Amino acid sequence: MKKMYAHAVCLALTVTIVSSAGQVFAADRDHERDSSYMQGKARNIIVMVPDGMGLADVTAARIAKNGPDGDRLNFERLPVIGYQRTHSANSTVTDSAAAASAWAAGQKFNNGEISCHAVENVCVENPTTILEIAKSMGKATGLVVTSTITHATPAAFGAHVNSRQCETEIGRQYIEEIGVDVLLGGGIGANKRDAKYNCDQYPGQDGNAVIAQALGLGYEYVTTADELHQKISDDDRIKLLGLFNDGGLTPEYLRSVEISQPRLPEMTAAALDILEEDKDGFFMMVEGSQIDWANHDNNYEYQLGEMLAFDQAVKTVQDWIMAAPQRRQDTLLIVVADHDTGGFAVNGPYGTLSDAGDMVEAGWTTGGHTAGDTIIWSQGPGSRELGESLDNTDLFHIMKKAMK
Ligand SMILES: [Zn+2]
Repeated sequence: MKKMYAHAVCLALTVTIVSSAGQVFAADRDHERDSSYMQGKARNIIVMVPDGMGLADVTAARIAKNGPDGDRLNFERLPVIGYQRTHSANSTVTDSAAAASAWAAGQKFNNGEISCHAVENVCVENPTTILEIAKSMGKATGLVVTSTITHATPAAFGAHVNSRQCETEIGRQYIEEIGVDVLLGGGIGANKRDAKYNCDQYPGQDGNAVIAQALGLGYEYVTTADELHQKISDDDRIKLLGLFNDGGLTPEYLRSVEISQPRLPEMTAAALDILEEDKDGFFMMVEGSQIDWANHDNNYEYQLGEMLAFDQAVKTVQDWIMAAPQRRQDTLLIVVADHDTGGFAVNGPYGTLSDAGDMVEAGWTTGGHTAGDTIIWSQGPGSRELGESLDNTDLFHIMKKAMK
């Protein structure tokens, strides 16, 4: 009762103070920073990853959407803000595999490794991941991405392999070893065989064999947005494999209206719809995978489309949390990029002020990743500890401690 009262007061404040943007922000912040929601334990943990997003990406997307003086992006509304180092075990500049493995398992890994310490292409140690811990506590689990479903970031949570290149094996482990309940994204990638990365020790399967195995293990399988919506309309607790393209999903800036693939916010809503049925709660990772790809391409239009879709997916989660008072108490939500890609910078306009809808003048320092720290936005139980200068491995320990 006390909390509902506090909530009502905050809403009243937000409604009464509308005279200036700055004051509205202040009222919002009082509400969002209500520290009672930072205590207790997390029944649900939702990690949302704008892969390869630097802070200037946020600036550019905010200006394009709302203008320089406009409202914050949705994920910027999360009340606790910290930042993290991103280096891997063997490189100042990390890749997505080592970076996600650091979150997933709480240790530093070499670039390319998927929650596995490998010697000559063989895993010699597979530390337990936060997704596996959630599973062992009876929770439902989900991975939602716009890359191949077996790409490095989701892989680190749901598989242990010597190399991110072993994508078919990653898919097999999701289904056969770990049993991730909800898998939504692009297709199952191939086990690549080149000089550097060796996947030869894994059974010679292809993606279709993994899909067949999933069906045998009771997964429902969908390949279009319509099928996805149909599947979640009956309120059952199901295991769901949704693969909506062969490779990654079509980028936002290239999507036509008739495209049959779901967008990231729709996939996020669908996953929540299924995962929320578990009485023990859930762990879910949602990745805006292609912010990274856009920055690799030094393509601002591509980046902006992916940024806004990712932000809309965060809004979907925020709305889900706010739809029931208990969810706010129960849910740790973290938004964090694994690394910066491209060294993106907003170089202008200088001397005139942009308007909402404007594209800024942009530039990149590289087509690869950079080593800059990345911001951590969060709310809910455990989030208080995330508002500091951290290492990426700390996130695992904070999530583990917060989870009940
Ligand atoms: Zn990445």
